[in-house]
Amino acid sequence: MTASDMTAGAILGIDLDAIVDNYRLIKQRSAPAAVAAVVKADAYGLGAMQVVAALQNAGCRLFFVAHLSEAIALREAIGNGAEIALLNGLQPGAEPACAELGAVPVLNSLDQIGRWTEQAEALNMRLPCMIQFDTGMSRLGLSSDEVQALLGRRTALDGLDVRLVMSHLACADDPEDPSNRDQARAFDAFCAHFPDIPRSLDNSGGAMLARAHYDVVRAGIALYGGAPQNGPNPMRPAVTLHARVIQLRTVAAGAGVGYGLTHRFDRPARLATLSIGYADGWPRSLSNRGAAHVAGHRAPIVGRISMDSLTIDVSNVPEHLVFPGSLVELLGPHQSLDDVARDAGTISYEILTQLGRRYARTYLPSPSFDQQKVVQP
Ligand SMILES: *Cc1c(COP(=O)(O)O)cnc(C)c1O
Repeated sequence: MTASDMTAGAILGIDLDAIVDNYRLIKQRSAPAAVAAVVKADAYGLGAMQVVAALQNAGCRLFFVAHLSEAIALREAIGNGAEIALLNGLQPGAEPACAELGAVPVLNSLDQIGRWTEQAEALNMRLPCMIQFDTGMSRLGLSSDEVQALLGRRTALDGLDVRLVMSHLACADDPEDPSNRDQARAFDAFCAHFPDIPRSLDNSGGAMLARAHYDVVRAGIALYGGAPQNGPNPMRPAVTLHARVIQLRTVAAGAGVGYGLTHRFDRPARLATLSIGYADGWPRSLSNRGAAHVAGHRAPIVGRISMDSLTIDVSNVPEHLVFPGSLVELLGPHQSLDDVARDAGTISYEILTQLGRRYARTYLPSPSFDQQKVVQP
């Protein structure tokens, strides 16, 4: 257990049971749709190897990453019967490696469809793929013109095994946003041309919308405990973060703290310096804004966050609770991921994906596979 690990400045706890619970909750809410796990960016910073192992155990059979490199890093974790799909599509020149790995590219343009078809012909086999439509986000996927062109030469997909047609919602975090309905309508119109192929439109937010969820939901943030939509968060928190106190001091009225002395004390104060900073992904925008908690007592961040440390005001925390080596909560029961994101002026996704590499990481429960095999990206 790494709570006793004194070599790292902070301890990141990742609750794989909570992630599995969240997977089951999303499944329940979006049934009869299947739930695929989005594990791009190292499972939003939480460790794709561990998350994939836990979710495969729970029955998940489809995983999404962004890049082929991420799929390659996960090749040993993705077991028999499970597949891995590439949201960012098929890069020119990556076709042979993608085919060799058996990864499923999400084809986002006619050019990608053409190149994957050529690869299929070269190998004399039908290659698996997914096809994405742009239904209004203007980010990735075939436009309506491209779909019309594709329909014009119906044999264009003959060399391919199209396993899913999909699109992505721009505003699923807001259930009231009319674009959710507009995008679903546009998606239905596209799908009508591909009647026998499973469909996927919803991410975490989409899975919470009060309508049917097509055949596959692509869940990311909700698995990891972030709020899928504005308002109350039904998901179970999956991440805790505790930083160590390195030093305590009392300062007199008029003293300043941190680079730029951006905070000055108008009365004497007791300060604790924690061994976590922006190099650990703790956002510098929390300077003079965020807080830590000590046994439920709020201790505000004072002054600017440094690279490797930050300072909190513990004047209101009982003295016996803070001492060199003691742990202070940054993510946990008193401060959620979404609280921190709001204070930092960002979203939970960014907080998670920036989480540092210097933390001691504790997985609950310990994953069943060989820790030695964990590949760090
Ligand atoms: C990242 C991503 C998801 C997952 O979104 P969440 O909001 O984290 O659930 C789903 N689909 C696509 C295309 C994505 O890029």
